[in-house]
Order: sequence, then C-alpha cells, then structure tokens
Amino acid sequence: MHIDILPIPAFRDNYIWLMHDAHNAVVVDPGDAAPVLRALTERGLTLSDILITHHHADHTGGIAELRQHYPAINVYAPEAENIDGTTVALAGNETIFIASLQLELQVLSLPGHTRGHIGYYGANRLFCGDTLFAAGCGRLFEGTAAQMFASLSHLARLPADTQVFCTHEYTAANLQFAAAVEPGNPAVTARIARVSALRSANRPSLPSTIGEELASNPFLRCDSPEVIKSVYNHTGTRPATPVEVFTALRLWKDTFTA
Ligand code: ZN
Ligand code: FE
Repeated sequence: MHIDILPIPAFRDNYIWLMHDAHNAVVVDPGDAAPVLRALTERGLTLSDILITHHHADHTGGIAELRQHYPAINVYAPEAENIDGTTVALAGNETIFIASLQLELQVLSLPGHTRGHIGYYGANRLFCGDTLFAAGCGRLFEGTAAQMFASLSHLARLPADTQVFCTHEYTAANLQFAAAVEPGNPAVTARIARVSALRSANRPSLPSTIGEELASNPFLRCDSPEVIKSVYNHTGTRPATPVEVFTALRLWKDTFTA
C-alpha cells in the first residue's frame, strides 16, 4: 500500500505531518485542529490515529477538537506527560501498529526537550518532534544536556537514508549557527544554498535525512575537530568529552544571533 506524506503548516513555523493512503490519515503533533480538518476534507480522508511526541501546546492543542470530529481515533502519546485525550500511553521502546495504514512504528524514548519526549520510527521515516531539527536540536526545557545528547546519539545510529520529519521550520536559522561553528564544513555551505533556494520558493526544507544531519548538523558532530575547536574558542575551556562539547554548543546556540 502506498502511503503519502505532506506537511500541514500551522502557527508561525510548525508542520503537522499527515500520512495517508486513498482513504485514511494519521497526523503527528496536531497543535491546531482547523488546518488538519481542512486538509482531510479537501482530500476526502478519514482520520484514524494521532501521534504525539510531547506535551507542548503547539503539538497537542488540536487533540480535543479532532476527537470531537473522530471519536474513535487512537491518540498515542507519552505516558510520562499525562496529555489530555491520550488513548494509548507509551513509555518508549514499544512497537505500535497503525491498522488503517498497515504501518508498524517503533516508539523511541527521546528525553531532553521535555522529560517524556518520544519519537516514532518506521518505513524509513522518523518523526522526532522537537528533539532533532534539521541542522539543529530542541531546547532543553525539562531534560539535561546528557539526556538530549543520548537521545540524539540514538537517532544518529538510524540508517543514513532515514527521512527526518521534525516539527519546526527552523533550518535556515540553524544553518547560520552551523556555519559559525564549522565555517570549514562544505556540507554546511552546500546545505545553506539548498535550503535558501527551497525557502525562497516557499517550500519546506523538510524532510531531511539522517545522513544529511550527520554531515551538517553540529549537534551530531560533537567529535568533529572543527566543532571542538570552535567550542574551545567560544568558551575558553577545552571540552573533555563529546557530552561536554554538546552541552557547550547548546548553551552557545541559546544566545546566538547571526
Ligand atoms: Zn516543544
Ligand atoms: Fe514545538
């Protein structure tokens, strides 16, 4: 069965990913119900499942209204975050089966941005919410840098051709930081050109791939000599481990302006 996927833009820079076949649809992190309902109506689709990565309102705000329209849908969400409307609470490391699309997904535990953050991986696609971004990573609101580093390291080991569907269009700004950290990385330079062409044509910069992230996302490159050197220049302290590199990079990015 062929499954298509498309981004539904929401708010300022969110994407609600919609997977569908000819009849059924699944959405990931519907922060707003209205654009989802419009997309379903336009395509004559029925919503069967909602996948939630974490509790922030821009990822969960549409659940209640979507459940009013589709009372029988499954709502998968992290157990640790007590999200209203959850029908299947997930701890991470389960496998779930989306019957409507005949799609098996692995649930990944990805703490860092929030303490219960999860991701979904299957059919060569990764839905990672606010954990891994294209050329960046999520902020540390509830978890520690060490937790986020471990979560990103887990994602970095997925097959290189895995398509990465994250929730925000932050890529251009993230690449400015990547270029400040690794001015000598040709993969960053090439990606800036690609992404700026897409964005000027008003097209999403997503999905990316794990391979692309390994080549140009500084947060997945904490053992790169140039990243280590830049962190040293920025902080004045030589980082001793990749986790220390990551911790310093995340702090640097929090106050970085291009
Ligand atoms: Zn968030
Ligand atoms: Fe978000």
